[in-house]
Amino acid sequence: MIHACPNDCILYRNEFKEMHNCPRCGVSRYKVKDDDECSSDGSTKKGPLAKVLWYLSIIQRFKSSLFANLDDAKDLTWHANGRNYDGMLCHPVDSSQWKKINSHYPEFDKEARNLRLGLTNDGMNLYGSLSTQHNSWFVLLVIYNLPPWLCMKRKYKMLSMMTLGPRQPGNDIDVYLSPLIEDLTKLWDKRVIVLDGYRNETFKLCVMLFCTINDFPTDGNLSGYNVKGHCACPIYEEDTS
Ligand SMILES: [Zn+2]
Repeated sequence: MIHACPNDCILYRNEFKEMHNCPRCGVSRYKVKDDDECSSDGSTKKGPLAKVLWYLSIIQRFKSSLFANLDDAKDLTWHANGRNYDGMLCHPVDSSQWKKINSHYPEFDKEARNLRLGLTNDGMNLYGSLSTQHNSWFVLLVIYNLPPWLCMKRKYKMLSMMTLGPRQPGNDIDVYLSPLIEDLTKLWDKRVIVLDGYRNETFKLCVMLFCTINDFPTDGNLSGYNVKGHCACPIYEEDTS
């Protein structure tokens, strides 16, 4: 559980960990009422948290649940060893993007256990008709090493973060994604030693963000591209008719 500024400016971690008020907008970390007392340093008394990010660390789950399981560890190399290629497109492994990545990063391709992830995120109203404005935000990871009959199963889709409304983070999604980006950067740059339960050996795991799956407004939030109005098409840009 990581505390967040209710205006989505920062997460209270690293250099902001001990602060009571947001250094950007000055709003309290806790829910405050008008008559709440302020202490001598200007911070308000502790109450319920104003906003929280739930981050479920991915590295530990790769280590202790995914590769530690014999069957899962075997299935994670399906894309390289286990499939019968029949000339049909049935999985991202058949895509030109997969092959292009292999030619760009031959070191990554050499180890079939290295993971390729899809990141999908969207908002969701948990309260149905009780509150039409409430919007919680979820980020899921899909593991494309697995065969097509497993990679979209609920068991293998990893919830990596969620924020519980009331507003969606919009362009400030980068603030909430920062713990996940840190873990992904570590898994790409430094790699992590993992025990492979199926082969009973350790290896250095490298992980790649293979693709993102989202609707057009969220694509704008993630990329920073303006997806509304003039020049809204990110492919044609200035030539959009
Ligand atoms: Zn703030």
